[in-house]
Amino acid sequence: MEKMSEPTPAMSPEEFRKYAHEVVDWMADYLADVRRYPVLSKAEPGALTDRLPHEGPESGESMDTILNDFFREVVPGLTHWNHPRFFGYFSVSASGPGILGEMITSVLNINGMLWRTSPAVTELEQVTLDWIRQWIGLPEGTFGIIHDTASIGVLHAILAAREKACPEVRKDGTHPPMTLYASEHAHSSIAKSALGAGIGQENIRLVRSDAEFRMDADELERLIEQDRTAGRLPFFVAATLGTTSATSVDPLPRIIEIAKKHGMWLHVDGAYAGVAAMLDEYRHHFAGIDQADSVIVNPHKWLFTPIDLSILYLKDKELMKKSVAIETPAYLKAAEHPRALNYSEYGLALGRRFRSLKLWFVLRYFGRQGIANIIRNHIQWVQEVAKQIDAHPDFEVVAPTPFSLVCFRYKGTDQDNQRLIAEVNETGHAFLSGTMLGGRFVIRMTVGNVAATRDDVQSTWQLIQKCAERMKAAV
Ligand SMILES: *Cc1c(COP(=O)(O)O)cnc(C)c1O
Repeated sequence: MEKMSEPTPAMSPEEFRKYAHEVVDWMADYLADVRRYPVLSKAEPGALTDRLPHEGPESGESMDTILNDFFREVVPGLTHWNHPRFFGYFSVSASGPGILGEMITSVLNINGMLWRTSPAVTELEQVTLDWIRQWIGLPEGTFGIIHDTASIGVLHAILAAREKACPEVRKDGTHPPMTLYASEHAHSSIAKSALGAGIGQENIRLVRSDAEFRMDADELERLIEQDRTAGRLPFFVAATLGTTSATSVDPLPRIIEIAKKHGMWLHVDGAYAGVAAMLDEYRHHFAGIDQADSVIVNPHKWLFTPIDLSILYLKDKELMKKSVAIETPAYLKAAEHPRALNYSEYGLALGRRFRSLKLWFVLRYFGRQGIANIIRNHIQWVQEVAKQIDAHPDFEVVAPTPFSLVCFRYKGTDQDNQRLIAEVNETGHAFLSGTMLGGRFVIRMTVGNVAATRDDVQSTWQLIQKCAERMKAAV
């Protein structure tokens, strides 16, 4: 027989208050001092696993012990994504107002699956997404819904598109070969989601791109016609405005024409760069976005909102609803009211976090102009450093820099470039990542953190040059 012990009571409000203050103080210190941390964790694989107990605790432990272990054991194994010099992948930021929103969301712990399970959760999502809709130039009446990530958002767009092209598939799960198109530089989530929607690997076309890494629209049209001739059903094309490797911009007006001509669904992936449509001087990159059947923008990337929060906009919300419609179980039946939207009827997930609160805080705290000013600075600092890099005899910029990402190379081998990234990252000062462009390994540096400064960018460029000189001297 196991020994019976007293049940651990819920944390008392007094204890919660004490530790909440302690944790918030730590959070404020972290934000103030984040530049002191090495951006990239130096932890060895398995290091944390070996240091933590292999079995869970039998009895409850004190918050003091737990927090001490967090600071001592967990923090050294962290890579600091909220560091202003996190320049790899895409920089992200949890801004102060966003963090406060996230804290309240967890205290409330609401599940906004239906309007009536918490009316304000549904309505705040509708209101905030409608503000952003207007700021990025989507038509009135566009439906917005929050998903955790762009990956899950595009899966839903594909399901809605499949419903439009071939509604019978929902009955028996089979359909004629349906083909989906995206550029070879499109994000991998599109191909993954196509698999998830039952499209099949052989029916995913990654369209070749031009010298500036934009989808070759002539090739798109050729592939579509070839598939039609072969009896396949081209149904979905994704245009990426701001690709993941190089932030290249697919030729949207041409792609719209082709999609219309063939009656296909047009998806726009603006997960990273979509927010730049808020700026008049960059809006030309997004010309035609109002024609899209679906659009994705990720506030958790370049809109200072803590991960996770991705927006899927849809021209026709009824197709989305139909694509996942089942006989509603009795326990979920909700009274119909034209103004009471049940978000869970528009996606695969039932449970929904109260994500819009942090977004509402961010949008109100900065305002449209405040957001635009920060994004504008990021782009200008990157375009400035891109010029300096390209003017340096040992470096070259290898792609246009329409937004806040510069792709460049040290004029050497791929291995030299990999070594250069490793040496920069090893210093802990900044974090860079790499990618393959045109068959060559290149260095990516992207600026998007709300606390980043011009000096963060410039000091990192100085460091890159210093590491390169050291490398050259060692040869
Ligand atoms: C990052 C990115 C995605 C994936 O975003 P998640 O929210 O992490 O799924 C999709 N498309 C583009 C263009 C991206 O840059």
